[in-house]
Amino acid sequence: MSNKDVLVFEIDQAKGKPKDVKKVKKSTDYCPFCDTENLTNIIDQKGDMIWLKNKFRTLKDTDQTIVIESHEHDADISTYSVEKNREVFNYIYECWNQMIQSKKYESVLMYKNFGPMSGGSLRHPHFQIIGLDKVNGYKHIESENFTGMDVFNNKHINVNISEKPVMGFVEFNIIINNPKYLDDLAEFARVTVKYILDDFYGGKFDSYNIFFYREGNKIICKLTARYVVSPYFVGYRLSQRDGDKQVRGIADVLLERLRDNVQSKEINDL
Ligand SMILES: [Zn+2]
Repeated sequence: MSNKDVLVFEIDQAKGKPKDVKKVKKSTDYCPFCDTENLTNIIDQKGDMIWLKNKFRTLKDTDQTIVIESHEHDADISTYSVEKNREVFNYIYECWNQMIQSKKYESVLMYKNFGPMSGGSLRHPHFQIIGLDKVNGYKHIESENFTGMDVFNNKHINVNISEKPVMGFVEFNIIINNPKYLDDLAEFARVTVKYILDDFYGGKFDSYNIFFYREGNKIICKLTARYVVSPYFVGYRLSQRDGDKQVRGIADVLLERLRDNVQSKEINDL
């Protein structure tokens, strides 16, 4: 592996970075994303969504940007209305696509942290969109990371549980075959996030990540509950998955949740 594959963390930049995820929120805690009047380096804005440069740029040779999803500090995908959530997904896609189309970067990543185990430091709902100057962030990702046991399938959208997860254990993939179906991607993701936080393994998870990928015209959204990283992965880069019977059970319950809650004509095809 050459140095080109490694992101370099610059510790000086991280000093003074606000952090409120683990602490009980006190009135004295300051959230820079609530203080919209003092936000700087705003790139674009739509309603209460704001795309800006990250003030605390910790990674060398990168362009770190953030999309603040809502003015509400405690909001989340799991609590948004169907309409609000669609607005968020459409807007982040626009921002991500703009950075990709600029051709300024070797690759552009888009992901979200939620909860104390996710790697996030601020509760206020936001996505990260990061342009990497030199690194291909998708180098270790293969098509097979996006296929597995089907939960839902029709001609525009596929929901499955990874048979070969990037890390494991349970990774949900939501795939649309064209960006014009983003509204459906948003809606299937909204219900899946709710499932991850409320039902998955009896609701024991309080943290999740969402990652975005593109493959030709396809947009892939990978959602995963977060937990302490397994030593198999830390030491050997060995990913793990649940057994088939367990995955079938999860797929069946998720399909039920999608049927009951997704507001999209796609689900009527069932
Ligand atoms: Zn806030």
